[in-house]
Amino acid sequence: MSNVAVCVRFRPLNSRERRINGDLACIHSFDSESFVFKDEKEDIRFCFDKVFYSDSEQLDVYEFLASPIVEDVMNGLNGAIITYGQTGAGKTYSMEGPSILECVEHNKGLLQRVTDELFGFLRHPVDNKKFTIKMSMVEIYMEKVRDLFDLSKDNLQIKESKTRGIFISGATEITITNSSEVQQCLSIGIANRAVGETQMNLTSSRSHCLYIFIVQHEERSRSGKFVLVDLAGSEKVEKTGAEGRLLEEAKTINKSLSALGNVINALTSGKTNHVPYRDSKLTRFLQDALGGNSRTALLCCCSPSPLNASESLSTLRFGTRLKLI
Ligand code: ADP
Ligand code: MG
Repeated sequence: MSNVAVCVRFRPLNSRERRINGDLACIHSFDSESFVFKDEKEDIRFCFDKVFYSDSEQLDVYEFLASPIVEDVMNGLNGAIITYGQTGAGKTYSMEGPSILECVEHNKGLLQRVTDELFGFLRHPVDNKKFTIKMSMVEIYMEKVRDLFDLSKDNLQIKESKTRGIFISGATEITITNSSEVQQCLSIGIANRAVGETQMNLTSSRSHCLYIFIVQHEERSRSGKFVLVDLAGSEKVEKTGAEGRLLEEAKTINKSLSALGNVINALTSGKTNHVPYRDSKLTRFLQDALGGNSRTALLCCCSPSPLNASESLSTLRFGTRLKLI
């Protein structure tokens, strides 16, 4: 039995899409698990564990996709929530909500909701079992792991130990106990990410951002890990004739996204004698949050507009491949 839920979220049409095409969308909803994708050539029916249409709320996504994982993490499992899709499809909005300044109760992202629920357990521990939560935030760019709480740590190594499982050696870990501390950590991480981008002339859509929560129960020898991953944009850059660093970047992103696809595919199809975790830093780090004793949700983010039809199709096909059992 696979513990991977594959869901789709369509963001609302944006003003550019509306200006060009009005209300036209290529998604025709069927029910909460399936829809028909129409473009000029074909109608394709897609089925997922859950479909969040353009009118979905952050709370809906949280309740279906994340809340059960928080519970499992409290019970000692590891967890991962991953957003996939082209740049502009709603990955960061789903994770972080809109920019921190615009963030209000109803549009808070998965991150704030996940940590709020964890803090609920912190204040009211089940059977009085005490635990602590620490947060790290790192970025993987060109297969290098960079600490977003401390930019001087720009090439961290992934290691494994009995008590910690797979972890990022030397990454800054900040103990968090309430939502304002999380918000503070997030602001630092997001600001550092922007600084790094300016220094290296990058855009954040070309790196994977990992929000890592380490849950240490007093009475357990091994800590639990809950990772939220905002993946690099899945758009096909090679086709645009990129050269030099951009092409290298695109190849590296492609490689790690296909590694992720291959790993999840191996897990969901039950072909678990060789799961290619070591094909990328991302899958290596996620190894103990994807397979075995863990629960994973993948949110495939798409634009509903015909203007983005080919990228949306490729995202939906990525998600579908992971569901085939
Ligand atoms: P990505 O991280 O995939 O590149 P973003 O999350 O930054 O994309 O989304 C692109 C734009 O669309 C942002 O301005 C964001 O606020 C907006 N957006 C995305 N999803 C939604 C949504 N579900 N509701 C409202 N606005 C959204
Ligand atoms: Mg983003």
